[in-house]
Amino acid sequence: MTTVREYAITRAADGSCTTAGVQPLNDQIFELAVPVLMNDLVSCEDIVEIVGSSTIPFLQPAARAALAEAVAEMDERPRLVHAYRTLAHQYVLFFWFNHNQLCDISLAATPGSSPHEQGIAIDIRENARWRAVLARHNWRWRGSVDPAHFTYIGPGTTSRVRKESIRAFQRLWNIHNPADLIQEDGVYGDIETGPRIERSPVEGFASD
Ligand SMILES: [Zn+2]
Repeated sequence: MTTVREYAITRAADGSCTTAGVQPLNDQIFELAVPVLMNDLVSCEDIVEIVGSSTIPFLQPAARAALAEAVAEMDERPRLVHAYRTLAHQYVLFFWFNHNQLCDISLAATPGSSPHEQGIAIDIRENARWRAVLARHNWRWRGSVDPAHFTYIGPGTTSRVRKESIRAFQRLWNIHNPADLIQEDGVYGDIETGPRIERSPVEGFASD
């Protein structure tokens, strides 16, 4: 078993800097989030070209609609690295950022507070060509510190997504750790949820 923390350390040390290995745990978290967020997260797979190794191509409907308009205007699909992220995924990126910007991560939000976990952010390749058209459709470029990143700032979003994303991990932890139950409050904290995400297996929890 490899914990999320061990994984973050190892992938930085070997220089591979990939989040792909977190995918089984991502899937388990996402599986619990999907039924709760059925109306709040929709696939954007049909309007992008996926180029990431751990891409979860989901966005809030308003963000997806605005992206679809930009795609129609450009008459091409953006090459998508990240859209939605789970808490596990965000933890790894933040760990790298927080430890001397390992893996060249120049900016990453604290787990639980990223617009990616909110389903209103995309990281895309060849972003320079997309800045003007995305800006016209309420997608704000983050700037040169994180050039791949755009956040949807238009109307019609809900903060439920972030909360339920965190709660999905808390529920997953509790299902597999009945002797170490934590609050399912949808709030990320350094006392309860933080240490559990660190100790969770990237291969996913074994079902027994
Ligand atoms: Zn981003």
